[in-house]
Amino acid sequence: MAHMETISAAPRSISVLGSTGSIGVNTLDVVAQLGGRDAFDVMALTGNANIGLLVEQAKATGARFAVTASDKHYHLLKEALSGTGIEAGAGNSGLHDAASMNGDIVVAAIVGTAGLAPTLAAARRGATIALANKECLVTAGELFLDAVNDGGGKLVPVDSEHSAIFQVLETDQRHAIERIILTASGGPFRTWTLDEMRDVTVETARAHPNWSMGLKISIGSASMFNKALEMIEAKHLFGIRPDQIEVIVHPQSIVHSMVGYSDGSVLAQMGSTDMRTAIGYAISHPSRQKLNVERLDFARLARLDFEAPDETRFPSLRLARTALERGGSQGAILNAAEETACHAFMDGRIGFLQMADIVEEVMDDMVSLPPATSMEEVFAADTEARRKAAMLVDKISR
Ligand code: NAD
Ligand code: MG
Repeated sequence: MAHMETISAAPRSISVLGSTGSIGVNTLDVVAQLGGRDAFDVMALTGNANIGLLVEQAKATGARFAVTASDKHYHLLKEALSGTGIEAGAGNSGLHDAASMNGDIVVAAIVGTAGLAPTLAAARRGATIALANKECLVTAGELFLDAVNDGGGKLVPVDSEHSAIFQVLETDQRHAIERIILTASGGPFRTWTLDEMRDVTVETARAHPNWSMGLKISIGSASMFNKALEMIEAKHLFGIRPDQIEVIVHPQSIVHSMVGYSDGSVLAQMGSTDMRTAIGYAISHPSRQKLNVERLDFARLARLDFEAPDETRFPSLRLARTALERGGSQGAILNAAEETACHAFMDGRIGFLQMADIVEEVMDDMVSLPPATSMEEVFAADTEARRKAAMLVDKISR
């Protein structure tokens, strides 16, 4: 048989929600590597305040629709796109329209709870969701999965750990899956003492040793709240019990995660610290496409280290386990309180370790809230947790 190039003949259509962020920029690089306009029809791109980049991306990809989440930037965007044939949109309704446009694949790469409503709209219309925004599953869990199922589309993880598990999870051997093992780099404070961690600045917290990412997730990696969200994300994504989820610190970030089976085998997925591999897999699944990313050189790596996480210095992991055990709305509450506390830390209003204190207090305060039965209840829990967290921030920073 003649050698065949792997690019599929018919262009697939794709939208990127959050195209101007770290995942978004990497996604458009993958799209270009996989054949650009010959392989993909780019439908909608969305950003927030970086209008210059959004316009540049829309022109370069031939997108049909470009949306800024920020209403006040609408005129700037519309003006910059005049004469290009690319339509401009803004605000929540613009994001909703972008997510609702016809198209095969929607890459969900908006940061935070702001990504939930548009991703949900894409799920409801049956798109294949390449999910980077972990907050969708952490806050809405089963309701989000129901929307994907009802829409008839599918969900493919982009988060590197979940992509790894997705790649080595033998779904026809469900009975034999004992545990999933999420790896964590440990972040910049892996070896710091509690005392040293008390006064860290945003600049030291954002300097991730291995991955280059957006600001919010970088701070979340330093506090390990990112791993906390990923534990909850994994429970929903893979339908496993909380006691089957383990976290292991692996400073080199080469093993992206693992699945342990009942015969003692552990399957791991490895790669360089480059999100383009996971993004490429998510948008090409079930096939694999050639990508220009760094190949692992095991002789040069020489060693891979693993160590148990320290839940005293990183209470975020303990709080994730509490949220998983309690169930109900605790995932949404943890996420909302953490987002509020993280922004307060980024604004210099609270200390690094106070983020976890605030999250724990809000979770305990709202422990009796039953599981949400509708998206309205999810948003109500989110709003209430933010309000309580903001009050605690005010109390501390006064
Ligand atoms: P980022 O901050 O670099 O980009 C966020 C994107 O969302 C940008 O396009 C921004 O314009 C847009 N945005 C910001 N606020 C918005 C709002 N209120 N409404 C609508 N859009 C808004 O973030 P990122 O690092 O690319 O992360 C995106 C998501 O992917 C997060 O949920 C993160 O946890 C997840 N994720 C990221 C990585 C990574 O390597 N960066 C890895 C795994 C998962
Ligand atoms: Mg991750």
